[in-house]
Amino acid sequence: MKIVMCASEVVPFAKTGGLADVASALPLALEELGHQVIIVMPGYKTAHSPKFKIQKLKEDISYSTIGANIKVYFIEKEEYFNRDGLYGDKSGDFKDNLERFSYYARRTLELLKEINFSPDIIHAHDWQVALIPVYLNALYKDDKFYKKTKTALTIHNIGYQGIFAKAQFPKLGLDWGLFNMEMLEFYDKINFLKGGMVFCDIINTVSPTYSKEIQTAEFGFGLEGVLNKRRDALFGILNGLDYSIWNPENDEFISRKYSASGIEDKYKNKEDLQKVCNLPRDRDIPLFGIVSRLAEQKGFDILAEDINTICRMKLQLVILGTGNLKYHILLEEIVKKHPKVVSLHLKFDDPLAHKIYAGSDIFLMPSRYEPCGLGQLISFRYGTIPLVFKTGGLADTVNADNGFVFSHYNKDDLLKTIKKAMAAYKDKTKWQALARQAMGYNFSWTEAAKKYLKLYEKAKAK
Ligand code: ADP
Repeated sequence: MKIVMCASEVVPFAKTGGLADVASALPLALEELGHQVIIVMPGYKTAHSPKFKIQKLKEDISYSTIGANIKVYFIEKEEYFNRDGLYGDKSGDFKDNLERFSYYARRTLELLKEINFSPDIIHAHDWQVALIPVYLNALYKDDKFYKKTKTALTIHNIGYQGIFAKAQFPKLGLDWGLFNMEMLEFYDKINFLKGGMVFCDIINTVSPTYSKEIQTAEFGFGLEGVLNKRRDALFGILNGLDYSIWNPENDEFISRKYSASGIEDKYKNKEDLQKVCNLPRDRDIPLFGIVSRLAEQKGFDILAEDINTICRMKLQLVILGTGNLKYHILLEEIVKKHPKVVSLHLKFDDPLAHKIYAGSDIFLMPSRYEPCGLGQLISFRYGTIPLVFKTGGLADTVNADNGFVFSHYNKDDLLKTIKKAMAAYKDKTKWQALARQAMGYNFSWTEAAKKYLKLYEKAKAK
């Protein structure tokens, strides 16, 4: 099959979250299964590092290669993409995101013709690229080149939809006829994700539970009605994990590599993490790790409510993340009060993330909602036991036999579950068995990619 993967961030060229992991791991797995895949993404500043050996195809298009032969094309446009940040900066979202991402979508469809890559499937991810099915329908309906092309749209997080003022509609180059409630309009505004959901052939989300949740008012962020209408085209496939990146047996970022049979060596990483984080070196104290966007979605509201109580317990907490300024300020206060308990790193730092996954005993991920979540899958691989709220992909992967789960979203249940994990940690033999079991799990992309292929077949049969 000929597949085009369209995403606004792709590892290793640009990443703010799990989307970037998926957008490179899925193509790699599809290529291994014998399919022809290319990727198209914006030519951000971060993508232009010499280490990526980028070559020029034409004035505004460059490319690099991943895997055996997956071409990654970059849509270059100095004024749109050559800046710090992908979607915004400290003062919020970039004001020209509508122009940036609608330009990307149109230029992508032109590019495929220019390089003569007539795809069976265009697979778009999230709101930034969700206009692709819209433009395909609006501008290329009778174009022979795209005659057999079908589209799939993956929703990685329905909380982010790409909503813009109606006044900007003319900039899209689309007919006003598309601005109606059944298409791109959302409460008198433009909604990119909604447009994609209406015009694509297949919709999927990144876990079975989340695909059900988003059809309800509680989780649908206003788009539950659209999804309900399209429920026959809606599926849920759990993300895999790229084990070539996330593997404690050959992880270059951690101080001591280890396997399930040599789990003792995990504690060398704990010591190293304690050292790096300026925390007392103590093997017996349970170390909780967090690697996360600092957002309400990730559970920081209930964590913040009782964080002083948590910090007075006999534990250590290492937090790596950036995001909401409110949580930056709050957590900085907490560190000042409990410097021997909490170590805070307000940045995006991939090597440190690896050290935290390897050096922590428990991975704290109390997300209010979680489409799939990669953190819990990564921590399994590193023998770090996840503590999660029962929602979305977390509910699909973590249970009482392999981690710690609470099912009422409030600070008391979170606290109770933290205490439970701390008590369990005292039994070293049982704990190590739990860690070894976790390391044995296989959430590889190969299986997930096979499920995507089935979806593509479904789309093709339409
Ligand atoms: P989301 O995509 O909603 O942010 P996921 O759990 O699906 O959450 O994926 C988050 C990914 O980003 C994981 O690979 C995680 O390790 C990584 N990550 C998040 N924050 C940071 C950070 N501050 N530094 C390094 N990696 C991070």
